[in-house]
Amino acid sequence: MNFTKVVETKWNKSVAECSNEELYFALLDMVKELAKEKESNAGKKKVYYVSAEFLIGKLLSNNLINLGVYDEVKKILADAGKDLAAIEEIELEPSLGNGGLGRLAACFLDSMATLGLNGDGVGLNYHFGLFKQVFENNLQKETPNPWITEHSWLNKTEVCYPVDFGGMRVWSRMYDIDVCGYNNRTTKLHLFDIESVDEIMVDDTIHFDKEDIARNLTLFLYPDDSDEQGRLLRVYQQYFMVSNAARLILDEAQAKGSDLYDLPDYAAVQINDTHPSMIIPELIRLLGERGMLMEDAVNVVKKVCAYTNHTILAEALEKWPIYFLEKAVPQLMPIIRELDNRVRKAVTDESTYIIKDNLVHMAHMDIHYGYSVNGVAYLHTEILKNTELHNFYKLYPEKFNNKTNGITFRRWFMECNPELSAYVTSLIGDGWKKNAEELEKLGAYLDDETVKNQVLAIKADKKEALKEYLAKTQGFHVNADSIFDIQVKRLHEYKRQQLNVLYIIHKYMEIKAGKKPSKPITVFFGAKAAPAYIIAKDIIHLILCLQQVINNDPEVSPYLNVFMVENYNVTLAEKLIPACDISEQISLASKEASGTGNMKFMLNGAVTLGTMDGANVEIAELVGKDNIYTFGEDSETVIARYKRGDYCSKDYYEKDADLKRAVDFIVSDTMMNVGRRENLERLYNELLNKDWFMTFPDFKEYAATREKAYADYENRDAWARKMLVNISKAGFFSSDRTIAQYNEEIWKLD
Ligand SMILES: *Cc1c(COP(=O)(O)O)cnc(C)c1O
Repeated sequence: MNFTKVVETKWNKSVAECSNEELYFALLDMVKELAKEKESNAGKKKVYYVSAEFLIGKLLSNNLINLGVYDEVKKILADAGKDLAAIEEIELEPSLGNGGLGRLAACFLDSMATLGLNGDGVGLNYHFGLFKQVFENNLQKETPNPWITEHSWLNKTEVCYPVDFGGMRVWSRMYDIDVCGYNNRTTKLHLFDIESVDEIMVDDTIHFDKEDIARNLTLFLYPDDSDEQGRLLRVYQQYFMVSNAARLILDEAQAKGSDLYDLPDYAAVQINDTHPSMIIPELIRLLGERGMLMEDAVNVVKKVCAYTNHTILAEALEKWPIYFLEKAVPQLMPIIRELDNRVRKAVTDESTYIIKDNLVHMAHMDIHYGYSVNGVAYLHTEILKNTELHNFYKLYPEKFNNKTNGITFRRWFMECNPELSAYVTSLIGDGWKKNAEELEKLGAYLDDETVKNQVLAIKADKKEALKEYLAKTQGFHVNADSIFDIQVKRLHEYKRQQLNVLYIIHKYMEIKAGKKPSKPITVFFGAKAAPAYIIAKDIIHLILCLQQVINNDPEVSPYLNVFMVENYNVTLAEKLIPACDISEQISLASKEASGTGNMKFMLNGAVTLGTMDGANVEIAELVGKDNIYTFGEDSETVIARYKRGDYCSKDYYEKDADLKRAVDFIVSDTMMNVGRRENLERLYNELLNKDWFMTFPDFKEYAATREKAYADYENRDAWARKMLVNISKAGFFSSDRTIAQYNEEIWKLD
């Protein structure tokens, strides 16, 4: 297919004569056409990756790359005086996820298609993605984030199902987005919507009538769940998603000749966190409707469903009140009760029961009635087995397995950093694109001055590009000749942006006292806080106030700057990550299940400053201690301290003068002049009296380690070597490896 022809047929004029918008629509048509040609039936058994989130990001460039036409299209456009990057700006980002979990699902789809596996994603067609973040008076405000326009990646299908809720029936419709593999087949992301959805309900805020389920069901991703109606709506969303998924699975299997007793030969269901857990009772219910006895249905489903755990944070392990489920999905409760009774008959350990204190524990149902339970990094899986899910591990040791997360190198290297990935290819060939572990071949160049200089030069170019992008889009004045130290991820106390902030305040004080760093430092943040997460929003306020204080202080700003980007999303991640020198991965040990941001940064030649948590542990193992900066208490120390319950943040505050000075600054006059007393005092008190995620014990070592990294940065040659080691060892974190392991050990597709 020739892009010039597509344009001429569609618009009756040449590429040069078209507007960027017309070119975008033509590209959309062409990609959809090319994707269709690559559709293929890859066998009898299929995996259904069911997830409430798919943080897919913009799709144009990724699809062009995976279809193998990126360079050609870019050249045709350039020859006609057009810029692909400008055309990309027209596409709205589908932010159908909150963060890592949703982005993981998107990377997995890319890898499934690339490996040619027969696997589809199933989720919800939210009309508004994760809220758009705007800053006003140094505070986060949330506004709606639409992405569906007349021309979008969605393809309407004829698949519709009736879905029953307590006292009400709605009709669904399935929309598909093509997922193009890299030089391989196309699979599908199936997004279910309700026919009766009504966008009129949305104004310029993210508040809406949460009771009107038939009109609002698919309007928003995870509506604010701080109130009861918000939480109830989430149950409706989850059931709607899994009821549609279950019907689709049974219909597709039957169409291929399954008698449903042999469903495990036709389908594997990966339950991504507990959000899709109701698919277990729903499949059992539907199998009953199609004539199967309960006993048989339970045994079939037990061989079909597999569960991925993403967190050990108690508040994220969903437990629904029985009266919620009785109201929203009464048809499921008899089945859930029966599943619980079977557990009670078979097992004496009450802590594993599904129904306790009138709450339905979704993860418990997944573990008893799924055939696989996996964590998402080595350390995380060990903690599940030994601590969090130990009682389940004793019952079913054979079900537990680890699948360390990964990222797609197409988006997170080839697309976001074409300069570096092309340079790597010029050195070691392009085998790494299909077999990422071939990046190890870069190890041969660790002492090659030309290569190291080139890697540094590309990094400098990417920093310059980021500087320009942020000047244009956010009005920032960035010094590209400074160390770029970046922490971008959701805002959560366990991720400890507040620890980063305490260091910045400390550094600011030191500079004020005359201790100037020899190399200027620019610290970037990007983070959205859940709308109802008060302390997280206070931390954003603190960062924005500091940004104002520091960047406007002529004594300090030549040496230290802070920028918090507005509305951090996949699009911004793709700009920030290639420009990073130091990647902040500083969660409290034991709390970050894996992290995937850490992998993206490493692949793009950033050096990690982090705790021994999540996949950082595996990164440290791979690159060796000279090529990563680790600090802080280990997970065993932290878990033991929680168990003792004797942590007292004030003890640390009293004993460490630097820490005390930094904490006190939060409520200083300087800060009060630019910030709000209520927010700053609340945060100050939270740290001083609680500090639940234990930032104070790690502060001293964090500051010292960060100083060491900054000092080492000055030796450019040695630093370039560290960068190269990180890139060369990143191959393990390709989601192609992760997905191959899911297939070999869990799905077993033929
Ligand atoms: C990768 C990614 C994340 C996950 O980052 P972590 O550092 O692993 O929490 C979150 N948001 C976006 C937009 C991402 O691209």
